[in-house]
Amino acid sequence: MRRFEADVLIPGRGEPITDGVLIVDGDTIRYAGPRQEAPDPDGVAPVRVGTLMPGLWDSHTHLLGGPPGVFDYAALFTQSPALRAARSTRGLRAAVAAGVTSIRELGGLGLHLATAVEEGLLGPNIHAAGSVLSVTGGHADAHNLPLPWVRDAGERGADFRMADGPDDCARAVREQLRRNAKVIKVCASGGVMSVIDDPIHQQFTDQELRTIVEVAALAQRSVAAHCHGKPGIMAALAAGVLTIEHGTYLDEEACQAMREAGAILVPTFTIIHEMRDHPALSPEVTAKMAAVARIHQENITRAHEAGVKIAMGSDLGASGDGPASWGRNGRELALLAGIGMTPQQVIEAATANGPDTLGAQAPRSGQLRAGYDADLLVVDGNPLADVSLLADPARITEVWKAGVALKRDGRLLDAA
Ligand SMILES: [Zn+2]
Repeated sequence: MRRFEADVLIPGRGEPITDGVLIVDGDTIRYAGPRQEAPDPDGVAPVRVGTLMPGLWDSHTHLLGGPPGVFDYAALFTQSPALRAARSTRGLRAAVAAGVTSIRELGGLGLHLATAVEEGLLGPNIHAAGSVLSVTGGHADAHNLPLPWVRDAGERGADFRMADGPDDCARAVREQLRRNAKVIKVCASGGVMSVIDDPIHQQFTDQELRTIVEVAALAQRSVAAHCHGKPGIMAALAAGVLTIEHGTYLDEEACQAMREAGAILVPTFTIIHEMRDHPALSPEVTAKMAAVARIHQENITRAHEAGVKIAMGSDLGASGDGPASWGRNGRELALLAGIGMTPQQVIEAATANGPDTLGAQAPRSGQLRAGYDADLLVVDGNPLADVSLLADPARITEVWKAGVALKRDGRLLDAA
C-alpha cells in the first residue's frame, strides 16, 4: 500500500483536487480524492508530492524501428523486424521518460513489443493494431517497391497489409485478430508520407469500410481510420469507425457527423509540425505536408469549438532523437492548447479520453480513480497553469505503471 499526498491531484476527468490523497494497493488505485475523506491505512508513511496526475495516453503512435533520421517506407520491408524491434526498445524507454504509460500503436511492431512489455521490458502498455490496412496503391503501400513484395509481406504480417474487395478486407481484419490486435487501423484516405496518393481522395469503397468495421465489431474491436480528405472522413463515419485520425479536412458537416456518431478525433499535430520542414523528405512529400498543415490547424480548431471529442495522439514513430522521434510525445499537449483547449481539457484528452479510443477493449486506465490502474505521474510544476510543461520530460519526475515505479528522481529504473 502507498499513500501520496499531493498539492494538486488532477484526476484526468473531472475537477482537480487541492490537497488530494491517492492510495495505491498493488497495481490498482484504492482511493483518489480530498484528504478529509481519505481512509488511513495503518503503517503507511505518506509521500508528499507537488502535482499528481494519470500517466499519459498517446493514442496514435507507431513502433516502426526504421533507421534513425530516415523516413523510408521501403526500410519497413527490407530491414529485419529483429533489428527494428531492437531500435524500438529505445523508443519505449523514451516514451516512459516522457510520462507516457499507455499507447495505441496504429501499425508497426506493437503487437510483438506488447508481449515483451508485459514480460517486463521497460515501456508503456501497448494496445496495438498489427498491420495498417490499405488499398493497393493507398497510403500504406510502399509505392516504390514491386507490388508482389508488398502484397506478400502484408499477408505474412508486415506493418502494412493491402486489402482489396470486401472478402479480402474481412480476411485482413481476421488476420490482425488472430494476432490479438486490440484495434483495427484502416487508411480511409490518401496520406502525406506515401509517394503518389492524394490525401484528399477516399481509399476503400463504402462497402469495404463497412466490412472492416463489421468484422472488427464481431470481436468487439473498434476501428481507427486515417483520414485527411472529407470523402474518406464521411465514408468512415458512415461505416461506423470509432476514431478519425488527423481529420485535416473536417468541415462543419463532418464535425456534426462526428458528434452524431460519438466518434473521437485524434488530430496528430506533432507529426505535422515535426515533418513540415524536414530535410530528409522528398519534394512531393514536402509539398503535400505544407498543404495539409495550413488547413489542419484551422479545421481542428473548428472541430474543438464544435464540441468534437478529442484524444491526444502524436503520430510519432521515428528512431533516434531527431524530428518525429519517440520521447517528444508531450509536445502534442502544447499544440492542443494552441487550438484553444484549456489545460484541463488537454489533460483529459491525453489521459481519460485515451482508453475511450479503444471502445469495448478499453482498460480501466487514464484516470486517478478508485478501481483504476495505478498509472500515474508526479510533475514538477502545475500543468493546469501551463500545460506545455508536460512537453518536457525533465518536468516529469516520477512515472508509475501498475503501482511500480519506472522513473524516480528524474531517472528511469530498469527493474520493471
Ligand atoms: Zn499514423
